[in-house]
Amino acid sequence: MIDPDRLVSSRARSVDVSGIRRAFHLGATLENPINLSIGQPDFGVPESLTRATIKAIEDGHNGYTMTGGAHDLRVAVADNLRHDVDWTIGGGESDLIITSGTSGALLLAFMVLCEEGCEAIVADPYFVIYPTLGPMTGPKIVLCDTYPDFRMTAERVEPLITDKTRVLLLNTPSNPTGVVLSDTEISDLVDLCERRGIMLISDEIYDLFTFADGRGKTGPCPSPARYTKNMLLIRGFGKTYGCTGWRMGYAAGPPWLIDEMAKFQQYSFVCAPSMAQAGLVGAFNVDMSGVVNHFERRRDMVREAFDGVANISDCRGAFYAFVEVPPALGMSATEFCDLAIRHNVVTIPGGVFSERDTHIRLSFACPDEQLTEGLAILRSLMQSAG
Ligand code: PMP
Repeated sequence: MIDPDRLVSSRARSVDVSGIRRAFHLGATLENPINLSIGQPDFGVPESLTRATIKAIEDGHNGYTMTGGAHDLRVAVADNLRHDVDWTIGGGESDLIITSGTSGALLLAFMVLCEEGCEAIVADPYFVIYPTLGPMTGPKIVLCDTYPDFRMTAERVEPLITDKTRVLLLNTPSNPTGVVLSDTEISDLVDLCERRGIMLISDEIYDLFTFADGRGKTGPCPSPARYTKNMLLIRGFGKTYGCTGWRMGYAAGPPWLIDEMAKFQQYSFVCAPSMAQAGLVGAFNVDMSGVVNHFERRRDMVREAFDGVANISDCRGAFYAFVEVPPALGMSATEFCDLAIRHNVVTIPGGVFSERDTHIRLSFACPDEQLTEGLAILRSLMQSAG
């Protein structure tokens, strides 16, 4: 007899996805919801990239590529990194790997760097998959409480470091808060990690979505890669070009680390999707500034909507705001999200991204009219506190 209780690993058992499932399930029960819960762009893939990817299939780019990625894309990524963070990376060398999404890069990196008995430091609130990297790859995930301003500073991280700490995982611009760390905060983290011998992993999947007030003096998105090469830089194509389902990301860093990641990629994902690799070679030449400016205007709408009504994260990037449920309402974020759903607006309770359930994550990756309507409803529900 097949007995799942005997067969399912404790690793699998220890991962709880009920919070986010519940949020999606509740949203799915509505007929025409105002959906402010979506974590992917609401614009189409740029035409040139769609055409190039279709052509790639037609031209026969349908087999495996090299484990580390197809040459042309590696060269394009290397050029972009040279230009953006001043990293000189050889297109054919082992300091770069094209991965199956940003998640693929994160998983490979943790598999290489972490094991049972070690520790990895992650901000709270966090992107949902970060804590599950613990059970999946072994380390104890040590949460760095970043409330109320959501800044993972060196000052907050240092007391959490032990002789077991191997990784500091940084995400700026952040999901779920939209907070962008400053150049100084980032260079302090780089110094700290170097001093304590810890690998800094920087998840910069939202790098392009850094608004004018979040951009550093050194480039578009403040990044530790501008201060050191002794780190792992992870970026992706999915959010930037509206193609999250194509599963495309990349990681750059020291060859000893990239080589080990490539080893695991070879025996797991094998390679990133071949047609998407070929189709995205021209991605860095596509001007996305119109889209980014549009998101910035939506961010302004969100700020305005909650002005004087609720505390909101200082979102200067990504497409999220983390909004505090006014304590005067006497409600948890889950209760508030349930209330909002009864008014046809879907958001995600902070408890899905945090040990606390005091805020809601609102995504502004949705059409402007819906956003306007949704914000008005949320605002009036929050005002009923007064
Ligand atoms: N990191 C962050 C911070 C994210 O928000 C996401 C997607 N929501 C990912 C990684 C995963 O991205 P991908 O689809 O490229 O795996």
